[in-house]
This record gives sequence, structure tokens and C-alpha cells, in this order.
Amino acid sequence: MNFHIMTLFPAMVEAVCSESIIGRAREAGIISVREYDIRDHANNKHNKVDDTPYGGGMGMLMAAPPVCECFDEVVAGIPEDHSRLTVYMSPKGKILDHETVKRLSGYDDLIILCGHYEGIDERAIEEIVDEQISIGDYVLTGGELPACILVDCVSRLIPGVLADSVCYEDESIASGLLEYPQYTRPYRYRGKTVPDVLLSGHHENVAKWRAEQALKMTEKYRPDLLEKYKNGD
Ligand code: SAM
Repeated sequence: MNFHIMTLFPAMVEAVCSESIIGRAREAGIISVREYDIRDHANNKHNKVDDTPYGGGMGMLMAAPPVCECFDEVVAGIPEDHSRLTVYMSPKGKILDHETVKRLSGYDDLIILCGHYEGIDERAIEEIVDEQISIGDYVLTGGELPACILVDCVSRLIPGVLADSVCYEDESIASGLLEYPQYTRPYRYRGKTVPDVLLSGHHENVAKWRAEQALKMTEKYRPDLLEKYKNGD
């Protein structure tokens, strides 16, 4: 999977995506993450990429030409037989969920457009974007953090990124429920001990306990998910 991030702040994306599991997956060549600086396509001596909105109003808008020309650069480097999708991280988009993450993980190349300031001239969005995705009903200053979130959650589903692919299938949300509680050493901490069944070595009982706990956790913290799970949605 190749991620192409179109941004005015490439260092922000690089700082996040060069660490930990994503950084290692890049080093191993399982995924690639490349940033493209939209400002490189400014075409004016002050490297200006934004302007005031027509009709008035607060703030500045990213202009269409540098965004579209940056997109042309990205597309020129993607082989024609690759499947690709262009996503604009935006509070106007569909809220990101596991189903979307799974669908996106099936593409060869994901182009992710990050807005800043008041957003992007609508014509650039119409011209290059296939889908708008929001990370939640709140507004951030830019699309860079949302883009990193997308790179992270999609990458986890790419074979080889996690040590064991069962890891994610077993986890909260992917299984349809929240995950059961987990414990590690020490056995006793601040007067609290680990549930005895986890030390029993009895795999069936451990699995049964975990299944019960997953239901309890979901009922307590996300009753909406439990409802969906019971209805088989
Ligand atoms: N004026 C825009 C509006 O009201 O829809 C908000 C612009 S926001 C300040 C600047 C950029 O941050 C957006 O273009 C988008 O890329 C990103 N952004 C902000 N909130 C987001 C969210 N919830 N999910 C994804 N991206 C977001």
C-alpha cells in the first residue's frame, strides 16, 4: 500500500509516520508514505497558496491551481495498473469507521489531501477528490493529523504491518464488540490481582471468560454497538 499525502506541512506528517509500527513497516517496505508539498506548486515569488474567499468571510482559502497541480505530480508517479482513491480529510466527510478502513486497505495507492486555514476552493475538491472523510464531529486546524490517523488505521490491516493479523480481528470494534480487559505482570498491583481464570492455563475457560467480558464491556461503554451486534448489523 502506498500513501501519498498532499499537504502544506509535510514535516508534521513525516514526524508522526516515521515512528513506531508505521515507521518500521515503511522501513521494511510493506507500506510507503510520501509527502508532497502543495507549496512547491505555488507558481508565484512569495510561494503563496491561499487567498481570500469570494463573497467575503473570515480566513483564507487554499487556491485550486496549486492543489490540482500537486495532484497531477502525484498521479504521474503512480503506475496505471494500480487501483487508487483520492480522499480529502474534511469535517464535511463521512465519519471514519472500521468498514471504511477495511475498504480503503484494498487499494494499491491512497492519495490523501490535507486542507488548512478555511479549507480548499471547491473546484479543486470537485476536480480531484473521490471521497471526503471526517475523523469526527469537531474541527481541527488542518488535515495533517486526520491524514496520519488514516495512514495508521489502514496500515494496521495491511498484511505484515502487525506481527499477527489475528491481532486486529480480535480487537475492539473490528470484532463488533469492545475488547475484553487485559492484564500483564505484576500479578498484584495496588491491592488488585489478575482474574484467576487467566492463570488457569485452561484455554476454553479463558476464551469463555473473555467472550463474557467483551459483552459486559460493550454493554457498559457502547450499548449502541451491542444493539448492532445482537441484530447482526
Ligand atoms: N471551513 C471548514 C468547514 O467549516 O468545513 C473547516 C476548515 S478546517 C479549519 C481546515 C482543514 O482541517 C480542513 O480543510 C480539513 O482538511 C481539516 N479538518 C478539520 N476538521 C477535520 C475533521 N473533523 N476531519 C478531517 N479533517 C478535518
